[in-house]
This record gives sequence, C-alpha cells and structure tokens, in this order.
Amino acid sequence: MIYEGIVYRPPSESRSLIIQITVGCSYNRCTYCNMYKKKVYKTRDLDLIIEDMIDARDIYDRVDKIFLADGNGLVVDTYTLTEILKSIKKIFPECNSVSIYATPKDVLDKSQNDLKLLKDMGLKLIYMGIESGSDKVLVNTNKGINSKELIQAGQKVKKSGIILSTMIISGLGGKKEWIDHAEKTAMVLNEIQPDYLALMTLMVKKGTVLYDEVREGEFQVLNKNELLKETLLLIKSLELNNCIIRSNHASNNLVLKGDLPKDKMMVISEIEKNIIKEKNVIKLSF
Ligand code: SF4
Repeated sequence: MIYEGIVYRPPSESRSLIIQITVGCSYNRCTYCNMYKKKVYKTRDLDLIIEDMIDARDIYDRVDKIFLADGNGLVVDTYTLTEILKSIKKIFPECNSVSIYATPKDVLDKSQNDLKLLKDMGLKLIYMGIESGSDKVLVNTNKGINSKELIQAGQKVKKSGIILSTMIISGLGGKKEWIDHAEKTAMVLNEIQPDYLALMTLMVKKGTVLYDEVREGEFQVLNKNELLKETLLLIKSLELNNCIIRSNHASNNLVLKGDLPKDKMMVISEIEKNIIKEKNVIKLSF
C-alpha cells in the first residue's frame, strides 16, 4: 500500500487505518491552505482502493477504525462511496468506525437520502471544516461558501444521524475581523449544534495567498494573547447543548478540553487564567 504524497488526518484518527480514496482537495483554493498544493486532484480507481484494503488486511490483524483520505473524500460520488463502505464491511468486519473529511459544499451536493444511505452503509463520522462563521472572513479567505450555507450543511449532516465533527481556525480574521470572526462563528455553531468542535490556530504557510497578504501588511496576525481573547469571546458566545470541544492540534498554544455546556465555565476560566498570566491584567470583559 503506497500513499500518493503527504496524507493528512485529524488528531483523533491517529490509530486509524488510512485508506486514500482521493488524491488532494477538489477545491484547493482557500487562501491560507497549502496542504494539497502539490497534488492534482483525482478520485482513485475503486480497484486500487480495494487492493489497498486487501494489502492492509494482510498487515493488520485488527482494524477498529478507518479514515478515508485525502482532503475532502465526501466529494466522491455516492455510488463509489457505498462500494467502498461495502468493501470495508467485507474486508474488515471488526471495524466499528469509518470517517471522512468533507467540505460544506460536498455535504450540500449530497441529497439527504444520500447521507442517510452512507450512514446505513457504515459512515460513522464526518469532519467538516467550518473555519469561520463570519461572511467577511469567508470571503477574505476565498472559502467559496457563506454562513447560511455552512448552517445548512451542518444541519444536514446532523439530520442524517452521522456524527458531525467541526473544525474552526482561531485567528483567521486577523486583527481587523477577530470580533466578527468569534461572534459569527459561535452563531453558526449554535445553529448547527455539532457533536465535536476542534479549535485549530492559524498558521501562515509559505506559498499561500495569505502569506503574501501578511508580507504586504494587508493581514495582521493575532499574537498569543489576542488569540486567547478571541477564543474567550467565542466560548462565551457558544450555546451548545451537547458538544465535546478540543484544542489539541499541533497549532494550538493552549490545550483546552471540555464537554459543553457542563464544562463551559471551566474552559472560560482556563483561558482567562492564561491571559492573566501573560499580561498581568485582572480580567477581560466584552
Ligand atoms: S482548507 Fe480544506 S477545502 Fe480549503 S484548500 Fe485546504 S483542504 Fe481544501
């Protein structure tokens, strides 16, 4: 089994078998992302995907979890996805979790019945990048989607019964839009009510449009304290009924964990403690 190029997976899939069903990202136009710049997008042949599964079966005695890479596997047509899920059931009968990355657009392009079918065939979890709920930030970063569509996509996954794990990027609004970014992102998440929320932090990568914007002074990156202040505003604005939040990505300065709403005050106090430590101020209020 040979992967084509670098393969990325969410931190929570560190023990999963990764099966590459696509190469690259079919969108590949977000201003801050360089993950798939060197790859030309394609869906891999079903025969090759199944061959990889058979190879992996020879290597691993037990496979509990499978992650379908690359960047947005859900873009693959529903028939092919059901064939992949069928083969997983046959080749890895012990596997109890199949997950995949999806852009909100990929979700919107599937019908509600498609999503239900994929769930019934064994797709357990979708990782969907929201990144920001601010329409200004979504335009600035060329996400190709607006906040209303983000809400529709998130609610569609929830309605299908597939577990929804969302990602957002702290600092994506820069110094200009950090308040709008925090407030509108919370608003979108409150409408969606995801099962999981992962906070990542913006990393400016060479070779991206954002990198040039930073060099030209058009985009100003938040410092550590400003990031904490933004996260504090976001968490305070969240009204999630049953969501596990995590900021344990390599990009994060502060590791946060909690189940909302139960741990909301604990998470808030953890952030406040860190702001106080660094700046020696008493408390931030909004
Ligand atoms: S952020 Fe996601 S959708 Fe955007 S280019 Fe990167 S992988 Fe593709």
